[in-house]
Amino acid sequence: MTDKNRIPYKIYLEENEMPQSWYNVRADMANKPAPLLNPGTGQPLKAEELTPIFCEELVQQELDNENAYIPIPQEIRDFYRMYRPSPLVRAYCLEEKLQTPAKIYYKFEGNNTSGSHKLNSAIAQAYYAKKQGLRGVTTETGAGQWGTALSMACSYFDLDCKVYMVKVSYEQKPFRREVMRTYGASVTPSPSDTTEVGRAILKEHPGTTGSLGCAISEAVEAATKNEGYRYVLGSVLNQVLLHQSVIGLETKAALDKYGIKADMIIGCAGGGSNLGGLISPFMGEKLRGEADYQIIAVEPSSCPSFTRGTYAYDFCDTGMICPLAKMYTLGSSFIPAPNHAGGLRYHGMSPILSQLYDDGLMEARSVRQTDVFQAAETFARVEGILPAPESSHAIRAAIDEAMKCKETGEEKTIVFGLTGTGYFDMTAYEKFHNGEMENYVPSDDEIAASLARLPRLN
Ligand SMILES: *Cc1c(COP(=O)(O)O)cnc(C)c1O
Repeated sequence: MTDKNRIPYKIYLEENEMPQSWYNVRADMANKPAPLLNPGTGQPLKAEELTPIFCEELVQQELDNENAYIPIPQEIRDFYRMYRPSPLVRAYCLEEKLQTPAKIYYKFEGNNTSGSHKLNSAIAQAYYAKKQGLRGVTTETGAGQWGTALSMACSYFDLDCKVYMVKVSYEQKPFRREVMRTYGASVTPSPSDTTEVGRAILKEHPGTTGSLGCAISEAVEAATKNEGYRYVLGSVLNQVLLHQSVIGLETKAALDKYGIKADMIIGCAGGGSNLGGLISPFMGEKLRGEADYQIIAVEPSSCPSFTRGTYAYDFCDTGMICPLAKMYTLGSSFIPAPNHAGGLRYHGMSPILSQLYDDGLMEARSVRQTDVFQAAETFARVEGILPAPESSHAIRAAIDEAMKCKETGEEKTIVFGLTGTGYFDMTAYEKFHNGEMENYVPSDDEIAASLARLPRLN
């Protein structure tokens, strides 16, 4: 029987096949990710130092390197049921277009209004904030995907949501901003005069259009100075990868249902949360010696944390107020060129993925922006979905691998994460279509200059 008769275009799970627990890959790692450090003392942060900023239960999850399975509370699973299980799609049309013997599957996380996987963690973080009896949460957003996801989650649990949106995005992406306001969030362009740090920055740089680092600083200040508020973050942290493991668990369940064994798993990597979530259960098998997979992180060549960064302790934010994390980093002062994949413009990488990469358990490669949009267009024309620029990094690598299979005749099974849709990114598509898109690649000197400013630890 051919695959086409045996395996549907979309593999859906039943609601009762959805995971009941998240999987914590740290439990199976021999070399645990390095702990967050207090930037003042250089010592590992203790739970009580983190609870003024983050919700209590999320702090526990952040520090938990031992428990492999953490039950997903019923309230969160009820929300997940609105848009999950998400489909695992067999890309028959793309395979045909490429004339490849490879079998290509993608896990599609764009089927919710926020348009990305970020909702998987937003809903968990909002739930724990509500359970703790808090009034609201604060956060920053750049391109707007995280702010959108969080505002949806907060409206569901009736929590106040204060979003500091980088001023340039606030002005250039009015539609994202209005989606957030529709869900009841207050959206403030950053830097603003609502925080001390914002006022100081405005005084020093009156005309500034803001940065993610500056928005983080404002959101953290707003959380610590407003009674009943905590700060939440959409990527990088261990807790976020834990919540995103729902992607990988569903993917594995869907593959197992049809007896499919993946050879290769590919995902785009900004802060590492979707990739970390997608690969978690597969990496678990690899760590326990039960199976082997080739795992590939794909990043933009304009912000190449894995492929050209250094594994070292660094600040998580440009404002240098957040804890220090050991990660592959380009240095917190690295300002990536205005790349159109906003969600991949982060200087660092998840500490979990950084450790796995350093241990040789996964690979990374960087791809150029125009090649990414070319892959996005090829994909859209045959598979129908209009992919987010971030997601299209994974598409690029999947197509490249499928083309290698065409040369060698290998029938590899490739699984990649399609993290979201690109409806709010049409300016980027427009640039690509008009031939105005640039491929910026930082020089060695630029990266070295930023790395020279890494914090020094004794
Ligand atoms: C934020 C985002 C990413 C990158 O974030 P990770 O934490 O690396 O997963 C990728 N794709 C989309 C659609 C995003 O919104």
